[in-house]
Amino acid sequence: MSDPTRPPAPRIISITNQKGGVGKTTTAINLAAALAEQGQRVLLVDLDPQGNASTGLGIDPEDRKFSTYDLLLEDMPLEDILLQSDVDGLWICPATTDLSSADIELMANEKRSFLLHDALRQPDIDKFRFDYILIDCPPSLSLLTINAMVASQSVLVPLQAEFFALEGLSQLMLTIREVRQSANNQLRIEGVVLTMYDVRNNLSQQVEADARATLGELVFRTMIPRNVRVSEAPSYALPVLSYDGGSRGAQAYRALAQEMLARHAMTGRKG
Ligand code: ADP
Ligand code: MG
Repeated sequence: MSDPTRPPAPRIISITNQKGGVGKTTTAINLAAALAEQGQRVLLVDLDPQGNASTGLGIDPEDRKFSTYDLLLEDMPLEDILLQSDVDGLWICPATTDLSSADIELMANEKRSFLLHDALRQPDIDKFRFDYILIDCPPSLSLLTINAMVASQSVLVPLQAEFFALEGLSQLMLTIREVRQSANNQLRIEGVVLTMYDVRNNLSQQVEADARATLGELVFRTMIPRNVRVSEAPSYALPVLSYDGGSRGAQAYRALAQEMLARHAMTGRKG
């Protein structure tokens, strides 16, 4: 199947949870930056019409000439859309509000679930030699999120360490199973990462205990603490690793990247 003249295919990971405000975008930005810091070549695809990942990486709305919308619905080459971020090795496919109408337009397209899959496998992606592609999903299980899951090898689920955290997970797992059965039988769960964790809070500890009891090895050892530097960084248009590299938040995202890379090294490139 694989063509020996092409570089190895990038590993594509959707960052998904249909709940808003759980740390998807924050994880997308900072995990992408942490992977790039480890020498990986990374593309962050902003698939949320709000475009927070693009803004958080310092991509001005005026500079977003083209966006994920054009990638999905205009068959535009990656070269014309992707922008380099200030972080070495980190590229972004920005989102604009155009994307908010994409769901309806996708509905009318007969390849509606496969558009992102196909776009990320066009031959001109080889030039970039990406090791990882992270997709920041919108807070819904819409066709955009389905496109992300169909395009991906795995799904990374940020779980906010708060009451009702586990509540929406069964719906998410059901959707993953449906995508596996209908369109992408390779789709795996990359893991669940606890976000905004507060060690002094009993509730955080309870959510962690529940998550580890229910999901076992799927839960990353690394947890992302609630850290004010993490929440400040986007207003300076920087990942927390650049904004305050010594902060607890930056250290945690670095540890998460290392934990993921170590898992991938054990399972091989495609595992
Ligand atoms: P989502 O993309 O799932 O909607 P965000 O990543 O935008 O969630 O995070 C929601 C809010 O929580 C944002 O204001 C963000 O700055 C804040 N936040 C996320 N992670 C942390 C953290 N580890 N510490 C402090 N604030 C955080
Ligand atoms: Mg978001």
